[in-house]
Amino acid sequence: MANSTKLKTHKFDAIIIGAGGAGLKAALQIGKSGAKVAVISKVYPTRSHTVSAQGGINAALANVSEDNWHWHMYDTIKGSDWLADQDAVEYMCQKARETVIDLEHNGVPFSRLDDGKIYQRKFGGQSQNFGKTQATRTCAAADRTGHAILHSLYQQNIRYKTHFFDEYFCIDLLKDKTGAIAGVMVLSMATGEPLIIQAKATIIATGGAGQIFNTTTNATVNTGDGLAMALRADIALEDMEFFQFHPTGIAGKGMLLSEGARGEGGYLLNGKGERFMEKYAPNVKDLASRDVVSRSIYLEVKEGRGCGKNKDHVLLQVHHIGADKVKKRLPAIRDLALSFTGLDMAYEAIPVYPTAHYTMGGIPTNKYGEVVDDKHQSITGIYAIGECACVSVHGANRLGGNSLLDIVVFGKIAGEHCIEFLKTKPQHKKLDDKILQKIEKRFWSWDNNDGIEDVYQLKTELKETMDKYCSVFRTQKILDEGVEEVKKISERFKNVKLSDRSKTFNIARIDIFETENLIQNALATIISAAARHESRGAHSRVDYPERDDKNWLKHSLFYLKDLSLKYKDVNMKPVSVDSIPPKKRVY
Ligand SMILES: Cc1cc2nc3c(=O)[nH]c(=O)nc-3n(C[C@H](O)[C@H](O)[C@H](O)COP(=O)(O)OP(=O)(O)OC[C@H]3O[C@@H](n4cnc5c(N)ncnc54)[C@H](O)[C@@H]3O)c2cc1C
Repeated sequence: MANSTKLKTHKFDAIIIGAGGAGLKAALQIGKSGAKVAVISKVYPTRSHTVSAQGGINAALANVSEDNWHWHMYDTIKGSDWLADQDAVEYMCQKARETVIDLEHNGVPFSRLDDGKIYQRKFGGQSQNFGKTQATRTCAAADRTGHAILHSLYQQNIRYKTHFFDEYFCIDLLKDKTGAIAGVMVLSMATGEPLIIQAKATIIATGGAGQIFNTTTNATVNTGDGLAMALRADIALEDMEFFQFHPTGIAGKGMLLSEGARGEGGYLLNGKGERFMEKYAPNVKDLASRDVVSRSIYLEVKEGRGCGKNKDHVLLQVHHIGADKVKKRLPAIRDLALSFTGLDMAYEAIPVYPTAHYTMGGIPTNKYGEVVDDKHQSITGIYAIGECACVSVHGANRLGGNSLLDIVVFGKIAGEHCIEFLKTKPQHKKLDDKILQKIEKRFWSWDNNDGIEDVYQLKTELKETMDKYCSVFRTQKILDEGVEEVKKISERFKNVKLSDRSKTFNIARIDIFETENLIQNALATIISAAARHESRGAHSRVDYPERDDKNWLKHSLFYLKDLSLKYKDVNMKPVSVDSIPPKKRVY
């Protein structure tokens, strides 16, 4: 049956929004099955944020020291402060070994040990024997692991003839009469033309939302578009209050200096030249979980033990491991530090400070990547994978090296599940006219809006507001004020001005869409944070300093319609091993 729209329409069996590691892995699976699959990306695929992942990908290969997936599972659950779903963590850790080997077979040039095996380095929060001694679990291609993975997966997709819509901006999800997702509306960034792409299955793989903060490691394209699209399609977002701040961003700038630097033997120093992490995490010191290290840096600076003229940062020192080793193992971050600070980490320490890094929350899914409702029921034909999804394997705090693993493991299983779904012979559905008209109206609305608000100004204010009111340490008063500030920005957004209306200049139009997406992500994050009255993982409340399992061992679900929250249980039941019950989290 024909749709009522006059817009040009394409049809595929499956569409994937996002060409990062998650999207490309799913596309590869589906493409190999012979189904007609398309990938939509607002940037050229190999520029997706996965490309900048530095430190590596976790798998208990035991190439350097004894290891097994059960210890990895334990570390991930402890790292998550017991908020992760244990069945999903179990699945991810069990699959890690074959995932890394599969990546190698797909062409990822992992660094090597002298005996020829895949090189592994230490990362934060990793242990042997359920928390006893430090493990060495992160597989790396020097400090360009994400680059190697993304390029290999892209080349494999070219081989299997995946159709790419490069530089097409996805605006919204479309539904059929039954309310099921039936496709997307996109904008060709080259021509300004809006199009419809219909599919029997849709996979959201749009990455994180780090751009809601001013100081961040995330690329400018990480504006949480898929998360906001899901919200507008009446899908709730899970655990959005949990945002990871990475301890070692370049001070004052935010770019990441990988945890790999500390994994190779680097450490942090305060203004008195002390290795202060010995005080906060006596056992593992600088390799404690990221939330723990970030809070420690904040406290050192707050208590007057910072470095530099303004005592507003600490130092990351690596050069004591030897200049040759720094050059061999950390070439890219050495370059980065040199470009942005003028300092050479092969010979001198670098000023660092925590920076917004990773969106732990996201679109709720089961372990097959299927989107689920608040009763854990899957919604047929719609999947979410990668950083935009919340499966949940990271809970309240992600361990370094676990995201690259997450995107490839769940990209693969979602692809496989989607192939099985397509075998049931679903049809393209007629789109719901009302929803289609609403989305088309939204698309053109800015052309007729005589607004006065400047989009760049609003975006800047939003990011500064989030830095100020929703950062590493939080209190009710600060969060409540922050909620009001973000709501005010959201109101002002209705009056935003499209700075250039020419049909072929789409940057202005896209800036508006992205800013609206950022505002909706910020609302989800700060409203969920204001409601959670405990400290867990990255969500650190000065007024509720303890974790409260009795009242808060549960996932939050945020709904855009009335800015409301619901909660659902954490899955504490792995399939093949005993549950790992909550206990005090010390490093
Ligand atoms: C600097 C940095 C270093 C990191 N290092 C590590 C590490 O060493 N180890 C680790 O495990 N993790 C690391 N991470 C985290 C990890 O890299 C990411 O979480 C992961 O790569 C995300 O992959 P993804 O496929 O979900 O999304 P991304 O790689 O972010 O890709 C998102 C895709 O969605 C597309 N997209 C988004 N919105 C739209 C839209 N509206 N229309 C069309 N397309 C859209 C984009 O074009 C892009 O193709 C790092 C992250 C950063 C920022």
